Amino acid sequence: MCHLLRQLAGQPPWQKRRQDRRNSEVGRIEKDAPIRVALAYPSPYHVAMSSLGFQTIYRLIQALPDFCAERFFLPDDIDEDVSTSEPIISFDSERRLSEYPIVALSVAYELELAGLIRLLERAKIPALRTDRNDHHPLIVAGGPLTFSNPIPLLPFVDLVVVGEAEELLPLVLERAATAPSRRALFETLAEQESLLIPALMRPGNGTVAKACDSTLPAYSVIRTPHTELSDMFLIEAERGCSRGCQYCVMRRSTNGGMRIIDKQRILSFVPEDAKKVGLVGAAVSDHPEIVDIVSTLAEQGRRVGLSSLRPDKLKEPFVKALAMAGYKTLTTALDGPSSRMRALIERRSQEHHYVQAAELVRQTGMDRLKLYLMIGLPGETDEDIDECVHFVRELSEIAPVALGISPFCSKRNTPLDGMPYAGIARVQARLERLKRGLSGRADVRATSAKWAWVEQVLAQGGEAEGIALHQAVSNGGTFSAYKRAFKLLGHSPDGKGYESVRAPEPVLRFSQRLTTLRGSS
Ligand code: SF4
Repeated sequence: MCHLLRQLAGQPPWQKRRQDRRNSEVGRIEKDAPIRVALAYPSPYHVAMSSLGFQTIYRLIQALPDFCAERFFLPDDIDEDVSTSEPIISFDSERRLSEYPIVALSVAYELELAGLIRLLERAKIPALRTDRNDHHPLIVAGGPLTFSNPIPLLPFVDLVVVGEAEELLPLVLERAATAPSRRALFETLAEQESLLIPALMRPGNGTVAKACDSTLPAYSVIRTPHTELSDMFLIEAERGCSRGCQYCVMRRSTNGGMRIIDKQRILSFVPEDAKKVGLVGAAVSDHPEIVDIVSTLAEQGRRVGLSSLRPDKLKEPFVKALAMAGYKTLTTALDGPSSRMRALIERRSQEHHYVQAAELVRQTGMDRLKLYLMIGLPGETDEDIDECVHFVRELSEIAPVALGISPFCSKRNTPLDGMPYAGIARVQARLERLKRGLSGRADVRATSAKWAWVEQVLAQGGEAEGIALHQAVSNGGTFSAYKRAFKLLGHSPDGKGYESVRAPEPVLRFSQRLTTLRGSS
């Protein structure tokens, strides 16, 4: 039925969409409890329900005796007029967001901060913390963003759980339920090193929390066809990474490196009827039993997906197991455009690993090799791009190749923290150079150079950048609105300073930068 007919029939399109989604979910936990927590995700349903972190927090809250979780998502039609678009009501009970005492938000990365602002404001909750009072819900945020730089979140939230939330979030909820006032709650939580409390914050807080190993693995409870990973059961096969890629927040220095879940434990969680299993982890192909796990799941007749494949791990038995488990596209990271760049960012992968991967794609009958690539790394030149063109052309003679390109954004809590953005014009020129060189030889897709600059400003920013983000969203959320708002803080997308950068500067840990960031806002 078309939009107009549905309206004439009295049912707005979002209602039908919501019903379809509810009807096709498997594993939803129906629960009532004295304290309802609004568990919100600042992106639409299909993204949120693909997030293992979001699903884990849902499961965790539902397991607490006095609490239940009800989900909220950014409406798919948020850009439409407020009178016709989906209201911000609970996916589970249709209550309004403002009726909940606590809103727990999971934020994956910088560009989702705009979704957080839009979600709150569409729900008639002031996005800025300073415009709220104790009658508004307590807004608690966590998620992958907090592993690098949660400071731009602070103008919008009352509490940030930094790092792994499995143990801290229940503590926050339980104390929030009994504290006589917001102020008293903040005081009782002030000693927690991994909580940022903007109303009280002092330098020294913000250590990335590490949950006890007994809380692992994270796994999903709800399966739905309406996600990017359609009906897939997600389970963490490992957490963290033992490698040291210079741009990566999940490198070995974060929470002691890789924590491995053994094969039997992983298999024991997989529901009998799960036809698709997603093995999740920062470096899941480094799991010592990975070939065995994938083979066992494939022999049980299940399709398997892995969240990441390291090129040096793509040897014959493993790729054959992946093919048996339904893989059609072998996806891995090229990361830097040249051997020199890959060495600079400490990637272990070498050209022969990619050649072997391409050969295995051909041998196993997969459709293609997909490579993720960053451009605009510090010290990169056109020669590095030309080396990439030459090498990818060689690979494309072995098997079909697709490139997924993103501009490099420097993140806090990594050795490449503080590196300047290459500049929109330079990134676009390098992208064009790649596309020209690979025309007819590889499928090349790239994320926007403009929005990567916005991501970089927020990734490196403080509270002032958070406030500027709010202005940009209020002024329509276009790229021009962001550019104007960030310009007032001295940010420009012209790549100033990039040319003179040649090598990573020494690591500045997040905790050391906190005071500086606060000072700059
Ligand atoms: S990019 Fe991947 S392999 Fe490198 S440190 Fe991060 S998680 Fe590990």
